[in-house]
Amino acid sequence: MSQVVEDFRQAEWDASRQLACYLPYQFQNKTVFKGFDARCGGCNRGILPHYLKGFIQSMAEDKCLLSSIGYCMRCNSVTYFDFIITAGKEMKVESVDLRNETTSYC
Ligand SMILES: [Zn+2]
Repeated sequence: MSQVVEDFRQAEWDASRQLACYLPYQFQNKTVFKGFDARCGGCNRGILPHYLKGFIQSMAEDKCLLSSIGYCMRCNSVTYFDFIITAGKEMKVESVDLRNETTSYC
């Protein structure tokens, strides 16, 4: 097992809630976000909802931040999913790199 996965498990996994706890997410403008197709960054297979943890946080009436971590059993790796979701006439999902931003400010 890689050190990355080891660290991740200890620091984040046990303490985190399943993302499914937050889904479906209803925006204040009543638009509903049902979830996304989480794929492993290593083997590109789908990650089961049970292995997807994280949270959704409201940013505005029609905007929320989704930050989650998926664990892939098949290749034993971890993929981060960070999105800003905007619920306009069409749902817009933008990837954000929260973790790199944090490091560059250090
Ligand atoms: Zn995988």
